[in-house]
Amino acid sequence: MDKLNAEQRSANMRRIRSGDTAPEKVLRQLLHRLGYRFRLHRKDLPGNPDLVFPARRKVIFVHGCFWHLHQECREGRIPQSRREYWEPKLLRNRERDARAIAELTRSGWLVFVVWECELSKNPSHVLLGVQKFLDRGSRRLP
Ligand SMILES: [Zn+2]
Repeated sequence: MDKLNAEQRSANMRRIRSGDTAPEKVLRQLLHRLGYRFRLHRKDLPGNPDLVFPARRKVIFVHGCFWHLHQECREGRIPQSRREYWEPKLLRNRERDARAIAELTRSGWLVFVVWECELSKNPSHVLLGVQKFLDRGSRRLP
């Protein structure tokens, strides 16, 4: 968990307008082009991770900043209007995310979270981080 937070923290935090790009799709295409193979939205895993790399036992979530309360950008704030509606809803999402990550980790999965704002702002930076995550520890020593 700490590692994940550190990675989020160190990531280039920039402001985002939510555009009409589909950041998750962009990431998928980039990874596919690089030769990574993965499954999508596996329902049998906690939190239905967006990208699943079974052989590496790694998963990636691509989180929308608003719905998942990205703490490091503007999109991830609880709206002031109708706060009584949004607050419990969004806090519940965040709770659910934390639980999913904990369960995955407990059963031996490594988890990486990509935030949409990072992805739409600086895809190549995100891609580097993702590659590092995917390739880490995957080479076997003879
Ligand atoms: Zn964000």
